[in-house]
Amino acid sequence: MIITPIERVTPHYRGRFAPSPTGPLHAGSLVAALASFLDARHHQGSWALRIDDIDPLRQVDGSVEHITFALQKHGLEWDGPVTYQSLESDRFEHALYQLSQAGCLFRCRCTRATLSIHGTCGQDCASREVTTYEPHSLRVRFDTAQTYEFDDRFLGPQLLESRAVPRDFIVKRRDGLYAYQLAAAVGDAQPQFNSIVRGADLLDSTYRQRWLQQVLGLEPPHYAHVTLVNNALGNKLSKQTGAAALEVDFAAQNLRSALSHLKQTPPPESATTVMDILEHSTEHWSLPVGN
Ligand SMILES: [Zn+2]
Repeated sequence: MIITPIERVTPHYRGRFAPSPTGPLHAGSLVAALASFLDARHHQGSWALRIDDIDPLRQVDGSVEHITFALQKHGLEWDGPVTYQSLESDRFEHALYQLSQAGCLFRCRCTRATLSIHGTCGQDCASREVTTYEPHSLRVRFDTAQTYEFDDRFLGPQLLESRAVPRDFIVKRRDGLYAYQLAAAVGDAQPQFNSIVRGADLLDSTYRQRWLQQVLGLEPPHYAHVTLVNNALGNKLSKQTGAAALEVDFAAQNLRSALSHLKQTPPPESATTVMDILEHSTEHWSLPVGN
């Protein structure tokens, strides 16, 4: 597969990296950061850093400092100020209002014990009267009977029919926190960003987020997913699976490993600094079939 030239679809590329501050940058998140950085820079685009701090309960002190420090040590300099999703509650509330007006929002009083095994509402709360006084979450009905498809710039055409996506999902949690799907759909839409490069573990979320953007009247960005780094047990390398923090003193080696995972042409041996490596890989950025 050949990457769809982004120039054809958008005049100026605007990408981002959006880590959640739940731990330090690790090898898996470096792959996602590097792929989005190289894709943006290869297309002479801008690359922003947004901290997805919508869940203070999972936040780990010092993560933002570690992530920004590690990105800089790896030469992944972002444009403009760092932005924080925790400051976007007005936009999220407005989106909830729009979803309510569109008739797809409902109050769900399910607890963990009454949810279905797929994590969807298990008591048909949509057709019951759940008052605002009862503890509840806000969910949206997701019409899976419709066919949703989109063109992934790296993976090619994607069709919802072949994937298991729940029929409803949460947009505001019982504890009052905004859910990831809502925050990502609103935060990633155009005109703010027009090209999102991220891990393939989020492919199922992309259907939900694109659907939310459609209901909210937002123009979706172009999506592109890269396969992620697995640990020795075959699990996705993530903070949840205890991935080790990147050793910033070995930035050049870390970049070479991430480039190798992304199946990029290795920079020549003479490229010893972070800047040399990034310059070479920006110029030669290209993802093979199915990456
Ligand atoms: Zn329910």
